[in-house]
Amino acid sequence: MHKRNIPLCLPLKTLSPEAALISYPNAIRLLPKLVLASDVFRQLSCYYRSIRCEFQLMGFVEREDENVFRVTELAINPQYVGITHADNDTLMFSDFLRELELRGKDIGNLRLQAHSHGMLESYFSCRDVDTICDSYACDWMISMVGNIRLDLKARLDIFEPVPLSISLPIFVESSLSEINAPVVSVEEKSAEEAAWLMQLLKQMRPGMEVAGEVFHG
Ligand SMILES: [Zn+2]
Repeated sequence: MHKRNIPLCLPLKTLSPEAALISYPNAIRLLPKLVLASDVFRQLSCYYRSIRCEFQLMGFVEREDENVFRVTELAINPQYVGITHADNDTLMFSDFLRELELRGKDIGNLRLQAHSHGMLESYFSCRDVDTICDSYACDWMISMVGNIRLDLKARLDIFEPVPLSISLPIFVESSLSEINAPVVSVEEKSAEEAAWLMQLLKQMRPGMEVAGEVFHG
């Protein structure tokens, strides 16, 4: 939806260093930051630390003062998953959005797309960047990638009016002990964590290669 143009190969001569973000107070605002509400972080942490294969989910984002983007709640979209892929179930996606609206949610705030690389490294792959470029019909979107070691990375992509991609720092409204909590096995999970996992598993259509390989522990 947001086509990437191939740069023209003109014989440009460099007169100054390449583009860089300008920090406040020389910029018109502070640089953006991503803040995860405490419950959102606990839920995300439970998913990332527990599930071996790839998965994806979405989140409601509220914009606050000082360029803070705050994730207030997660929503889990229907998806097909495997060891190295997690694809949105596009046929079921409109039903997923309709259900959120029936529950009184503003789907215009569904601005976070998070996914896991499972046991693999956490980084935005070429395929991830293509997805960011092609899949969103909105003017800006936040993407997050992580893995089972809770190595999280986030970026803000602005599509209109000026296309721009910014790496985001992630902050958590949570205690240090929660952030550094050890990985727990399936049997050790609390009732709340088990309910969160059930919400995600309900939306996952695992491929044959991940049968029996979903959980860590
Ligand atoms: Zn990825």
